[in-house]
Amino acid sequence: MSAHGPRPLSGRAWLGYLAVGLAAITAYYLIPRAGAGVAARVVVYCLTSTSAAVVVLWAAVRNRAGARVPWLLLGLSQVVYSLADCTFYVNHYLLGLTGFPSPADVFYLGHYPLVVVALVLLIRRRSPGRDLPGLLDASVLAVVAAMLSWLYLIGPRARLDQPMLVTLASVGYPVMDLAMFVVALRLFLGTGRRTGSFALLSANLLAILTADTLYVLQQLNGTYQAGNFLDAIWLGGNLALGAAALHPTMARLAEPTAARDNVLGWGRIAALCGAALIAPAMLVLQHATGRFRDIPVIAAACAMLFALVIARLAAMVADQRRLAITDALTGLHTRRFFVAQLPIEVERARRGNGSVAVFIADVDRFKSINDGHGHPAGDRVLVEVADRLRRAARAGDVIARYGGEEFALLAPGVRPDELASIAQRLRQSVAGSPIAATDTALLAVTVSVGAACYPQHGGDPAAVIAAADRSLYAAKVSGRDRAVVGAVGVDAEQGVVEHLCRIADQVDLRMGSRHDSRAVGRWARLLAAELGHDEHGIRVAGLAARLRDVGKVVIPDAVLLKPSALDAEEWRVVRRHADHGFRLVDTVPGLFPVAQAVRQHHEHYDGSGYPQGLAGTAIRWEARLVAVCDVWAALLADRPHRPAWSVDEARTVLRTGRGTLFDPDVVDLFLDLHAEGRIDAPDLGRVG
Ligand code: GH3
Ligand code: MG
Ligand code: MG
Repeated sequence: MSAHGPRPLSGRAWLGYLAVGLAAITAYYLIPRAGAGVAARVVVYCLTSTSAAVVVLWAAVRNRAGARVPWLLLGLSQVVYSLADCTFYVNHYLLGLTGFPSPADVFYLGHYPLVVVALVLLIRRRSPGRDLPGLLDASVLAVVAAMLSWLYLIGPRARLDQPMLVTLASVGYPVMDLAMFVVALRLFLGTGRRTGSFALLSANLLAILTADTLYVLQQLNGTYQAGNFLDAIWLGGNLALGAAALHPTMARLAEPTAARDNVLGWGRIAALCGAALIAPAMLVLQHATGRFRDIPVIAAACAMLFALVIARLAAMVADQRRLAITDALTGLHTRRFFVAQLPIEVERARRGNGSVAVFIADVDRFKSINDGHGHPAGDRVLVEVADRLRRAARAGDVIARYGGEEFALLAPGVRPDELASIAQRLRQSVAGSPIAATDTALLAVTVSVGAACYPQHGGDPAAVIAAADRSLYAAKVSGRDRAVVGAVGVDAEQGVVEHLCRIADQVDLRMGSRHDSRAVGRWARLLAAELGHDEHGIRVAGLAARLRDVGKVVIPDAVLLKPSALDAEEWRVVRRHADHGFRLVDTVPGLFPVAQAVRQHHEHYDGSGYPQGLAGTAIRWEARLVAVCDVWAALLADRPHRPAWSVDEARTVLRTGRGTLFDPDVVDLFLDLHAEGRIDAPDLGRVG
């Protein structure tokens, strides 16, 4: 409580109040029921009941800490309740007015709605958001209670042949009790703190409901006597409410619990099971006694219970699923979920000719944070990094904790040219401002980001992840706190790449033009650089040009070196070198982009090429470069079935193929570069 708030209540005030109240109840039963004793009893009863109203209202007014409105409503309900008590006992004992219903019944019935509203407010504050399990469990018990209430309390009273007003009032009690029972259950089964005040409030509700139920039963079988033991339960209930308001924890009644604690323990399972079995048990009972009544009501209860149990099961399955795909520390998705989502998105992109980007962000030198400030500080940093990355991602992206201090983002529909800016945004979101690792330590935390995308950097989920991982590694070795996009695994696999280049040389040799592929590789790199591609793009284009014909290594000399024109079947065999080349190059991890460009270097801009008949920009840009360079080299070389073309003739062939065979921009650039003398001559040294 703040310094300006009311003085805190003594921790024992509620106990003192209960003790005095219990003494009053004892006195109530000891005072003789004749003569002046009657008046004394009425005074004791009314004072006890009113004391609760005064105490609750007083506590509610002076309390500014929490749960103010619910407590005010509870106080108000007790005011109405004690008004009813005073009216009833004065009328009944002092004035001899014993008619039913009486003005007291208006007050009694009027207090229930106030309690119900107060409890609903409490429930909503104690269990913010959805508490579906609590709601379903309470519903199971409520259905059973409603059925029993109908069978034994409401139904029998409604069927009695009485004046309308009497029926209305006497049915009113069990109906109101049922409503109060349902919200009380909901309060009890929901989440929230179980403090002393909460226990006393529960005791109040339990006492009132018990006494009310016994009262209706006694009225039905004619055994009710005003002033019998039920008064002790009612008064005890009132005292419990007053004590709840005086309890030191009263202001915390509306506090939610921090953690989700609404677990389905064995106790709750047993209670739900037992309650649900009451409905069929009623049928068995009626069958045994041969007295059938309200069968449709029982059947409806059975059906509702069944539906509720199914709903509870469904909610539990959904809950388990949510837990399985949520990282406990950061609240992000788990690696398991990420790895399951990636193939789905890749397949979707494959069908729609789209793309999928993967970013992996790894906290730089995280171990030193753990070592310097402790594991809990490290955890706090991880939570904050996760929050920042989540805010930097778009809605719809999947963001997961991929490893200890490693995060992965799956962004469907992101184009290759957007990768770098998104990767930088992720990096910047973490590096932008220091992170509070402890209450005193503000740390400059950075991440390195590796990015790759399908299909440009990897042709399947594993290859995209591998490419993003390679990029992350590249970002780490080049100094950390940076982003790298689509790193090619050339460095790691240099030996294999060199071997592939030797195969390309062999093919050149067999074709009779030494170093042909080296020249094509040079031109392709030059074109890529002139088109403004980065280092990585230039490497991919150059390597694709160099390796474009490695697939020819498996084509027999009889076809490859045939001096006369090829027949249809021989053409088919030759054309397969594009696919063979793809498969060969794709055996090297990280060379998928190169392999794809190799496969596509005989595609035509207008879609008339092979092997896939791709057109326009559906052909990789590297392949569109290689196509022009490849034809240029082929035209200038002698072939077994024809001599070399002149440079002018070759220029004409390129110009004629502008927009049909070739990308017009590439042709224009190539011819310009050639005119400027920057396209060097292929080494045409013939092998004898
Ligand atoms: P680098 O810049 O190369 O990534 O350096 P680093 O120290 O971040 O890399 P390394 O992978 O060697 O260290 C990661 C550390 O993260 C090791 C592990 O103890 C710690 N770690 C993993 N999971 C958690 C976690 O849940 N909480 C905390 N506090 N630390 C974790
Ligand atoms: Mg790290
Ligand atoms: Mg790591």
